[in-house]
Amino acid sequence: MSRAALPWEAVVVGGGPAGLAAGLQLSRAGLRTVLLERGALGGQARRLSVIENAPGWPGGVSGPRLMSAYVRQARAWGLKTVRGELAGLAPGVRAQRLTLTDGRRLSALSVVLATGARFKPLKAPGAERLWGRGVQHAAFDAAGAWRGRAVAVIGGGEAAVHQAAHLARSARVVTLVARGPLKAHRLLLARLAARPNVAVRRGRVLRVEGRGRVTGLVLSGGERLKASAVFVLIGARASAWARFASRPGVFVAGDARGGLERQVAVAAGDGMAAAMRAMRWLRERP
Ligand SMILES: Cc1cc2nc3c(=O)[nH]c(=O)nc-3n(C[C@H](O)[C@H](O)[C@H](O)COP(=O)(O)OP(=O)(O)OC[C@H]3O[C@@H](n4cnc5c(N)ncnc54)[C@H](O)[C@@H]3O)c2cc1C
Repeated sequence: MSRAALPWEAVVVGGGPAGLAAGLQLSRAGLRTVLLERGALGGQARRLSVIENAPGWPGGVSGPRLMSAYVRQARAWGLKTVRGELAGLAPGVRAQRLTLTDGRRLSALSVVLATGARFKPLKAPGAERLWGRGVQHAAFDAAGAWRGRAVAVIGGGEAAVHQAAHLARSARVVTLVARGPLKAHRLLLARLAARPNVAVRRGRVLRVEGRGRVTGLVLSGGERLKASAVFVLIGARASAWARFASRPGVFVAGDARGGLERQVAVAAGDGMAAAMRAMRWLRERP
C-alpha cells in the first residue's frame, strides 16, 4: 500500500479459494498483485472440518490445511496480502479506485471480486432478533459446541443436509426443516438416513422463540420444537459486489457470482479463469 501512487496491476478482493487461486495465477504471471481480505485468509473453506471432494486429496483434507497450502503457494509466487474490507469501487481515468472501510485507498488497473456468496436470511419473527444468539448460518468447524443438545437446521439443499448430518455426530437430536423434498446427492442423503438422531419435518418456520437466546421454533402446522441453535441454510445469493461485473477491467469469481455450483474446487477454477480474463484485458486494453 506504500506504493499507492502507482496503481496495482491487479487487486483481488476476497481471500477464499477463488481469490487465492486468482491471486496465485496473477502473481505467477508476473503481475503486481495484492489481495484484500477483511477476515482470515481461506474464506468459508477454511472453516470446513473436512473437504472430501477437493481433487488431489484421496483421503479428504481439512479446510485449514487446504487453505493454508493455497496461501503458501500464492505467496511463494509473490502475492501480497492486505487485511482490510472493501467499501467502495469507483472508476477512475486510468484505474479503478478502491476505498476500504477504514478510509485507506488503493488503485488498480484490474480488479477480481471474489467476495463469496451471501446466505439468504430466514424471514420469520424472532430470527433477526436472535441472530448470533443461537441463530446462524452454519456451524462449520464448531459443530461440537452443540454436543448433547437439540438443534434445528432449516433448508432442504446440499448445504443443509450436509450440515444436519455433520451436526448429528455430536448433537443429541437434529431436526431438519425443509419446505419441500430434500435436494441433495445420494451420498449425503444416505449419511443423513444413517443417523438415528435426525428427524426431517416438512414445513415452514413460523417463529423463532427465545428471550436472550434461541430456545425453539414454531413450525407451520403448529408443532413446537426445542432447539438451542438454529442453522439457516436456505440458499445463497450473489455477492452485492457482483453488480460491478459489467465494468471494463472488473471480474467476478467463485461463489460471489451466484448460482448453485458452490464448491471449493469450482471456486478455485473460477478464480483462475477470472485471473486469465483480467490478464487478457490488461494486454488488450486501449
Ligand atoms: C456448511 C457448508 C459446507 C460446505 N461443504 C463443502 C464441501 O464439502 N466441499 C466443497 O467443495 N465446498 C463446500 N462448501 C462450499 C465452499 O465452502 C465454498 O463454495 C467456497 O468456500 C467458495 O469460495 P469463494 O472463494 O468463492 O468464497 P468464500 O470462501 O466465501 O470467500 C470469500 C472471502 O471474501 C471475503 N470478503 C467478502 N467481502 C469482502 C470485502 N468487502 N472486503 C474484503 N474481503 C471480503 C470474506 O471474508 C471471505 O474470506 C460448503 C459450504 C457450506 C456453507
